Amino acid sequence: MSTQQLIHQLARTQFLSAAQWQTLFAQHTQEDAATLTALAQNTAKTYFGNRIYTRGLIEFSNYCRNDCYYCGIRRGNRLARRYRLTPEDILACCREGDRLGFRTFVLQGGEDPGFSDDLLCQTIEQIKARFVSCAVTLSVGERPRSVYQSFFDAGADRYLLRHETANAQHYRRLHPPGLSLEHRKECLWTLKDIGFQVGAGFMVGSPGQTDADLAEDMLFLKELEPHMVGIGPFLPHSATPFAACPPGSTEKTLFLLSCIRLMLPQVLLPATTALGTAAADGRERGILAGANVVMPNLSPLSVRKNYMLYDNKICTGEESAQSVAQLQKHLSAIGYALAVDRGDSPLVKLKKKES
Ligand code: SAM
Repeated sequence: MSTQQLIHQLARTQFLSAAQWQTLFAQHTQEDAATLTALAQNTAKTYFGNRIYTRGLIEFSNYCRNDCYYCGIRRGNRLARRYRLTPEDILACCREGDRLGFRTFVLQGGEDPGFSDDLLCQTIEQIKARFVSCAVTLSVGERPRSVYQSFFDAGADRYLLRHETANAQHYRRLHPPGLSLEHRKECLWTLKDIGFQVGAGFMVGSPGQTDADLAEDMLFLKELEPHMVGIGPFLPHSATPFAACPPGSTEKTLFLLSCIRLMLPQVLLPATTALGTAAADGRERGILAGANVVMPNLSPLSVRKNYMLYDNKICTGEESAQSVAQLQKHLSAIGYALAVDRGDSPLVKLKKKES
């Protein structure tokens, strides 16, 4: 089958086999990429119109007990300036976000034992009590089922946990002993079972990644059927074992965004900060490739530069939540508009209608 035929099959059936994915990744031409982008953009418009959902990102702690080889806030990075916001700081970020029109707050952090699970539950409860129409998304890594359940009971709606790579050997290459793909995947299934809207995802071009690994990522996403998928290019951080590794490709990230849009047509798909860091117009190009979410930064300015997952992470100016008007201007220049509602997954609304 030609690569053009593969793209049309993907659009028609939302499925390719592992071998077909690999052929598409290895053999596609510029013309194929253009066809794929156009189909993905159309699909996003079918389900979401020209509306782009926004989420206010609050990076509340950069302490982490893990030592992932790619990550700038890994435990072993003695040069990182560590910070932890208080619940009051987080609520102040939410107040600012609420004033700016955000209806989803994403609380992201390292796996920080110093911010206890109980404190996080109390914080979630306070946010939900004060901002009744908002959604809370968590991204705080791997926890036992009972803890995930307590986050859900406290009112958290969504959970982002990138699987990072669906190939066990590649997972080993990116993570120290003690972390496993099996456990990461188990966490995702548990989160889904509890009732969270769940987000998985991976870095594009992480060290050692092959097209076969990416094909496995696509098959895993298809199997999991997450509500959200977060992908962005791998970008090296100077104080990690991967400092000298080349960054992931912007073009390949855009290509994969379009593939994911066609495979999971209704998925919530952010144009990520990493994509915006890799290319100045990365977020806009991500949206044109089928993404439908942006996550401007709501963290206090004083700590923003310390949540440095990779070198040169954009952390002043237009990526910030305070520049919503500027973001709106950029989006309207390409025919899109910011949406002001919570932006729940259409899959959840469908489920509610059925029951
Ligand atoms: N601790 C939580 C977890 O494990 O999911 C959330 C924080 S973690 C820093 C968020 C995401 O940042 C990771 O899932 C990873 O994909 C991404 N990330 C970390 N280092 C990166 C790098 N060097 N380049 C691109 N993305 C990176």
